[in-house]
Amino acid sequence: MPYLIEVQQQSFISSPSPDTHRAALSARARLDLTRWYYGAAVMVAKTTNPPFSKILIAGAGPSGLLLALLLAQHDIPSLVLESWPGLDTRLRATQYGVPATRIFRRAGLLADIRKASIPKFPTICWRRVADGEKLVEIDMSLVEEEEDRMTVLQLGEIIQIMYKHCMDPEKGRGLIDVRFNHRVTGTGQDEDKAWVEVEVGKEGEEKRHERLEADYVVGCDGAASAVRRSLHGREWPGQTFDCRFMVQNVFYDGFADHGWEGGNYMIDPDHWGLIARRGHGGLWRVTYGDPVPGLTDEEYLARRPWHFKAMLPGHPDPDQYRIEHTNIYNIHNRCVDSFKVGRILLAADAAHACNPMGGYGCMTACLDVGGLADCFIGYHQNRAGPEILETYAKVRRDIFLKYVDARSIKNLNRVSKADPRTVAETDPFFKIVKELNKDPEEMKKFLMKVSSIEYDFTQHYDQRPAATHATSNAVNGTSNGISNGVEEHSENEGAKAEVALHMEAV
Ligand SMILES: Cc1cc2nc3c(=O)[nH]c(=O)nc-3n(C[C@H](O)[C@H](O)[C@H](O)COP(=O)(O)OP(=O)(O)OC[C@H]3O[C@@H](n4cnc5c(N)ncnc54)[C@H](O)[C@@H]3O)c2cc1C
Repeated sequence: MPYLIEVQQQSFISSPSPDTHRAALSARARLDLTRWYYGAAVMVAKTTNPPFSKILIAGAGPSGLLLALLLAQHDIPSLVLESWPGLDTRLRATQYGVPATRIFRRAGLLADIRKASIPKFPTICWRRVADGEKLVEIDMSLVEEEEDRMTVLQLGEIIQIMYKHCMDPEKGRGLIDVRFNHRVTGTGQDEDKAWVEVEVGKEGEEKRHERLEADYVVGCDGAASAVRRSLHGREWPGQTFDCRFMVQNVFYDGFADHGWEGGNYMIDPDHWGLIARRGHGGLWRVTYGDPVPGLTDEEYLARRPWHFKAMLPGHPDPDQYRIEHTNIYNIHNRCVDSFKVGRILLAADAAHACNPMGGYGCMTACLDVGGLADCFIGYHQNRAGPEILETYAKVRRDIFLKYVDARSIKNLNRVSKADPRTVAETDPFFKIVKELNKDPEEMKKFLMKVSSIEYDFTQHYDQRPAATHATSNAVNGTSNGISNGVEEHSENEGAKAEVALHMEAV
């Protein structure tokens, strides 16, 4: 069956702020091509005969910037090309499970992220929309002292922190060159190198066309990836769901007045979604799927008061809440046939996409680039051959298909298709949460446990990293239990393994 689709998934109701744009451009001006090559030359001298010297990354989203940072920590220079004039501040991810938090920590980002985040996220619950009743609840305060607990912060803020670190002379080490207004339009490669074709220039100005080369190209350019299209055309196997996903930042006193906190998954065929506290000053994120396909953005917006009245506590009218920002999306679960073609690789949303219920997208993106960084680092240090990149491509694809795809669809079905009157009794996941709730220690263990979607690629190094070596999981204290093979972490723990994952991701 062919999978020809239109991947353009977002309607933009907002664009990056002029401040972000200006900051990005002035920072960009501090770096130039000469410096990038100079940095590369100096660092190459530090590793004896490295088999490659530079990586080109398409996309300055979370995956592209995180990959650049992780590579810079190990003296590998990168050039990051971003089509937009600034960072993407649309409303998307807001919570990242424990596996992603571990990568944020390893990249040196966690302290700044925690500083910007709300200090407490006490509960996650599932509610029936019809009467607002809480069906099942997880006490997240059990892990509030754990450094690697779930992260809560809007993605727009996270990527600004990432970008700041990339530009910081100590953290980015002068090895990361981020260029805005550089839209990748195609790729190519031969035996020795890969390249991208780029359209350079601001909107409304005449564009110039360049070819930029590197040893490897990594497509981190999101769901509409030009790099993926250059390798696989318009084939992206999977499905697009029959709904529009409405995402808005909301201020409404009724949340506090009715005692709502943390994350609230809303179960209902017409009004399913997630309502969660996301920022300081009473900022909440309200997301829901409008099950009617094919309307215009204006028509979806006109239906919003009906959804809000049904979903929000106190059933408010529009004059009782303030909506600050809105984005509208199509949602997909898709995965490309191969994450690597020669010297060109794909990671994160460029390779795979999943619906947002359960917060798997960016978490998986972080794990992809954490793993890919380890593969490049081992190869660069002559502790692994180039075949480690093939291992990356196979393992991360297998993990996506086996765990992320399947479980994110279950999460979506739980809120949108299950019978809200009986789901608390019939859903195996809820049964296990209720069981775990009887033993806070067991619950805590499961909230923090190593997930089947994590994978330690340093096991493929010829020589294992020394304890002090700053690679991968070996230094973050989580190597115990991190997977040694996709087959090994089959559903051998049955439903419990799945529960653990849900809890990381909910
Ligand atoms: C409504 C919503 C809620 C979500 N909530 C969560 C959540 O709570 N937790 C979670 O883990 N995930 C969540 N996700 C998923 C998450 O946002 C994505 O998985 C994540 O942003 C993927 O990161 P990325 O770097 O791969 O791609 P992107 O974030 O899309 O970044 C790609 C970058 O590449 C740039 N680019 C695109 N094309 C080109 C080109 N041709 N040339 C150069 N640059 C290009 C783009 O401008 C962009 O800056 C959510 C998604 C949505 C839509």
